[in-house]
Amino acid sequence: MTETIFSKIINREMDADIVYEDDDCLAFRDINPQAPVHILLIPKKPIERLATADSADADLLGHMMLKAGDIARDQGCGDAFRLVTNSGEGAGQSVFHLHFHILGGRALGWPPG
Ligand code: AMP
Repeated sequence: MTETIFSKIINREMDADIVYEDDDCLAFRDINPQAPVHILLIPKKPIERLATADSADADLLGHMMLKAGDIARDQGCGDAFRLVTNSGEGAGQSVFHLHFHILGGRALGWPPG
């Protein structure tokens, strides 16, 4: 996988407003927030998008789902937040390192665009 903005953030070659980190994942504020809380949660492992993850990534992905809830609560969303991943260009993915958008802090409409 080629280097992305997000791998540079993991390697501290680029600044980000980091809100959570552990051995497996990193969370930081989106530079162009779409809600009062808009955090990106990424694995440190270079997975291009959700569609390219495989069964070897099951524990990592489960860990990230649980962390997403913790981060949303820490950011003041309570239990009301949205977790989104855009997998592939056609779905709106623009950075090709897997990331989950954690959105909250306002009423969220459905369906998304
Ligand atoms: P996606 O379109 O789903 O691939 O989401 C990529 C997200 O990365 C967008 O919401 C961007 O605003 C965000 N983004 C791009 N560059 C940075 C950066 N340097 N720091 C934080 N967020 C970024």
